[in-house]
Amino acid sequence: MPTRYLFITGGVVSSLGKGIVTASLSLLLQRRGLKVVPLKFDPYLNVDPGTMNPYQHGEVYVTEDGAETDLDLGHYERFLHQNMHRENNVTAGQVYYDLIRKERAGKFLGKTVQVVPHLTREIQERIRRLARDGVAVVIVEVGGTVGDIESLPFLEAIRQFHLEIGKDNALFVHLTLVPYLGTAEELKTKPTQHSVMKLREIGIQPDFILCRSEKHLPKSVREKIALFTNVPMQHVFEIPYVGTIYEVPLVLHKQGVDQAIADLWHLPGEPDLADWTDLVKRIKHPRHEVTVALAGKYVHMKDTYKSVYEALTHAAAQLRLRVHLRRVDTQRVEREGAEPYLRDVDAVLVPGGFGKRGVEGMIQVARYAREHGLPYLGLCLGMQVAVIEFARHVVGWADAHSTEFDPQTPHPVIVLLPEQKGVRQIGGTLRLGGYEARVFPGTLLHRLYGADRIVERHRHRYEFNPGVREVLEQAGLKVAAESVQGGLVEAIELPGHPFFVAVQYHPEFKSRPLEPHPLFVGFLKAAQEYHDKRYPLLAEA
Ligand code: GLN
Repeated sequence: MPTRYLFITGGVVSSLGKGIVTASLSLLLQRRGLKVVPLKFDPYLNVDPGTMNPYQHGEVYVTEDGAETDLDLGHYERFLHQNMHRENNVTAGQVYYDLIRKERAGKFLGKTVQVVPHLTREIQERIRRLARDGVAVVIVEVGGTVGDIESLPFLEAIRQFHLEIGKDNALFVHLTLVPYLGTAEELKTKPTQHSVMKLREIGIQPDFILCRSEKHLPKSVREKIALFTNVPMQHVFEIPYVGTIYEVPLVLHKQGVDQAIADLWHLPGEPDLADWTDLVKRIKHPRHEVTVALAGKYVHMKDTYKSVYEALTHAAAQLRLRVHLRRVDTQRVEREGAEPYLRDVDAVLVPGGFGKRGVEGMIQVARYAREHGLPYLGLCLGMQVAVIEFARHVVGWADAHSTEFDPQTPHPVIVLLPEQKGVRQIGGTLRLGGYEARVFPGTLLHRLYGADRIVERHRHRYEFNPGVREVLEQAGLKVAAESVQGGLVEAIELPGHPFFVAVQYHPEFKSRPLEPHPLFVGFLKAAQEYHDKRYPLLAEA
């Protein structure tokens, strides 16, 4: 069977959930027994999102092979239960960079190097590269909104690609918004008409239209969209707003979206969605509730800690819990103390981050959790602040700090280490991607993982200072895991505390809806126990 290609574009506005739709269609095809590989094109000129701040970009998702990628790759991994790689995210910056390097190396001697055909060929080559090892479908999500100047080379590249590969093996799916105007009490199709006109102007005729809409699209509206966009009505679908993103594949399947694709490609079979349906049921019908504080710097940005939220969702689904999230801005904790924010929560999580802002507040949060037996999960920076807190208030080094925040501290407990053998360092300094760690038997961590060896993903510069390890361990801090190469501290815990676990890595990147991460499951279980102690009568009921 030849490899097939599905191209997903978006119109009208950004943030329509193209990534979720791409992940959902990937899942539906995968569940028909096909090998599916997604690819995300990002039209910006950065080589990767690694250097963008959370306001610009949201979460930077780190793959096992150490690439800093768009957060949509997180959705792909979570829906497909399959690891992505560096090659699954391509930015305009990368394509231009490689093209210009080739030009400098004399690969185009005598020629004028142009967007068409040279850049577009470079883009197509990135698509073609993924069609190997029995891959049945490559799903390409084109970032940005149709009509943007920046996405033009990508759209031109897929137009040519489609022409070359033939329409039997390549399909265009266009995602749009159909707004509901309260004043007119009407669903408006004009933005969809216009965005498809834009697409057709550059030679792309969509095969499917998926309409994001807060209201059900009546037949008359779908007819109108079909007529103006030149797409058969039975290929105009809707994406209603649903309670959980994991329901999107089910609503698409119910309308027959994947069946319509399968019909065009003569694919046999039916997707098996039993476990997925059960997952959605567990998410939507929890049995107990807990309140978890998330204490960080960017708590008011929806996308910054995306994978953390998703990992909590996966663990909660397994435990049939509803998690009420309390977002705690640690800059406010600095002014008002931790108590007002934490006295009525069941657990607290401190996620990763860079820069000094809010760090003292995080340290106060870690102290409160340690002293009150409140379940604590620290991720990356969340481990570093726990170590600083412990050094200050248990060991008694009042001036202990990370050299990231106080380069002159007499007690540097978190430091930059000289380059380690076997440690990937990109952009000069960051430790990125999957590293193997040894988990020490007898620790809570070991009980949670049920394994001696783990591989977890990293994205940080600073490390636990090996020079203070002995002093801290003697004072009662337990190192629960260390890297196989270099013996770096990967995880700590506090024996005697119901749940105080902090890790130098980012477990949230490896949590999957059907395989929740053991640390998040353990954390929420501890939260539930803490909750039951606060409300003993509720627990009995
Ligand atoms: N800023 C810290 C470091 O670079 C932590 C990074 C993180 O939390 N991702 O080591």
